[in-house]
Parts: sequence; C-alpha cells; structure tokens
Amino acid sequence: MRALMFEAPWQMPLREVPSPRPAPGEVLVRVRAAGVCGSDVHGFTGSTGRRSPGVVMGHEFCGTVEALGERVERHRVGDRVVVQPIVSDGTCPQCRAGRPNLCLHRRGIGWSVNGGYAEFVSVPERNALPLPAEVSWHEGALVEPLAVALHAANLTPLEVGDTVAVLGAGPVGLLTVLALRLRGAGRVIVSDLSPHRLDLARRLGADEVIHAGGTDPVEEVRRLTVGHGADAVLEVVGITATVRQSVQMCRNGGHVTWVGNSAPTVEVPMQEVVTREITVRGAYAFVDEFARAVELLRSKRVDVTPLIERVAGLEDGPELIHDLARGSLDAVKVVLEP
Ligand SMILES: [Zn+2]
Repeated sequence: MRALMFEAPWQMPLREVPSPRPAPGEVLVRVRAAGVCGSDVHGFTGSTGRRSPGVVMGHEFCGTVEALGERVERHRVGDRVVVQPIVSDGTCPQCRAGRPNLCLHRRGIGWSVNGGYAEFVSVPERNALPLPAEVSWHEGALVEPLAVALHAANLTPLEVGDTVAVLGAGPVGLLTVLALRLRGAGRVIVSDLSPHRLDLARRLGADEVIHAGGTDPVEEVRRLTVGHGADAVLEVVGITATVRQSVQMCRNGGHVTWVGNSAPTVEVPMQEVVTREITVRGAYAFVDEFARAVELLRSKRVDVTPLIERVAGLEDGPELIHDLARGSLDAVKVVLEP
C-alpha cells in the first residue's frame, strides 16, 4: 500500500510499504479521508518533538472496514467508521475514573502508532466508531478536531451570554467558536495573525475579530469589554505570547482554558493569576465528546465544511505539508484522500 512515512524532520515521502494485517480484536480500515493537523505539521518540522521518525502520521480519519481480525464482534466488512485515535488500556486509575484521554499508558493512532496517512490502517475495534451515512467522508475527517473543541468548551465554566475570547483561529480555534455558540456564549472574540482565518471566524459566528499583527489583542479585548476583560479565554496556540495574553485579557476571577500545545515551556504572568484570582486549566483531547461530535454532524447542528479548504490525494501530501510548515500555504484544513 501507499503511505506517507515520516523519516526525519522535513522528510515524509510517499512510500510503498506492506499493508498491515489486523491483529485479534482489530479491524483493517481503508482510509477515505484524513485531515492534516497542525500538530502533524509541527511534528514534521521536528519543532515540538511530538512525532518520532518511522511513524505514519494522521489521527483525523475515517473510512470503511476492509477486513476483520479474530474475535471482532462490533463491525462487519464494509462498515463506515471514524477512528477515535486515543488507545487507552481501560484499566489504569485514570481510565477507571472516566478519563481515558489521560490514561497512564495511552498511545495515539497517528503519533505513537501508525495512522491515517496511508491506504490502510489497522486499529482496535473499539477505536472504530460507526459513521452515520448522513456524515460525509470529509466531515468524518473533522470529527476528531471538533471533539477537541467540544471538550475545551465543556471544561470552560460559562454562563449564558458570557463574553469569551479565543486566541488562535486554526482549525481547533475555529471549531471552538462553533462549540462556544452551542454552549451559550454571548460575545465571542477571536484573535489571530491571519486575516483569511479571521474572515472564516466571522463566517462561523465570531462577533469580533482582532488582527493581532496590527492591534494589541489585550487592549482590544479590554476596550470591547469596557475595561472588564473576558469572562473566559481559550488559548488555542500554545506559545508564550498568546499564553500571556490569555491571562492578561481575562477578567478578575475569570477562567482561562489552555488548549494550545506547541511550546513545551512558556512564561506565564503568574502574579496576575494570583492577584486577580484567575483559574487556569488545561484541556487535552476528549472523552465522550468524540461520539457527540459525530452526532452533532449527523444532526447538522454544526457545519464544519467551511474549514475544508483543500482536498488532495495522498501523493500531494508531502508538498502540501511542506508548504503548510513553511507558511506558504494558509489553508485552514487540508483533507487527504488516500
Ligand atoms: Zn488507562
């Protein structure tokens, strides 16, 4: 089969490799659509250390069941499925407490084991969820980032009508806008450096957008909230500049949720967190939000299709990911069709 092999930083060529065989309890999935995630692009450059050479990336994908390993009970050949990429052991204290996303032995399909930038991938049967016929392959590729956004919104305490700021208008930041709308946010303010992404944020329901290249986002949020600050802030970038802003633009006693995952270490204005009693928490991946994301797409409560700005074959993946990493391509979501 054909697969994009991550061989070294900046090197992820299309290779012909043996097709995987499903082990007992696994299903072989023929990948129909796989979304390119920012973490893959940053992993590709080696800047975050979140991807190791030798792995096939791709953790946002869906497809059809092509073959069954022994003892598979939930699926039949031909089923449409979307793959939930976190493999948890189901037995550790975190799993038993209902937090498989924080499993002590978690692995990731598409980062620690081979993922969806390939024609075929073998996954544990419980990681393959039914994808209803009403959800297209392209939408299926956005289930995972939508679930991340839903989880971040769910972990952010909100009252109906609250003013919420979102720092970063990448795919998860934009999907967070949709999630916050569902969650009853009042005014949603989005800040980013890309005018193109800010336009999309407006189309998806942002009330105010801040072009962070020309305007200080902290001052602008203070101005928009008459000096008060946002009730809640979601940071969806993961670098010092936006982490600092997330604290500074939050109101006294407000809440900051960190979703961004880029720089391993950042500088934080801790004194402000203390003296203004700001609550900061992290949000990682999702729990039951994955199934909810599927249902929200099936029922058409959210429309993720405006995010998909490029669809290409697997063979175009290396060049597209290279261009995304260099910054010469500003497509919000690229979907590969292996
Ligand atoms: Zn566990």
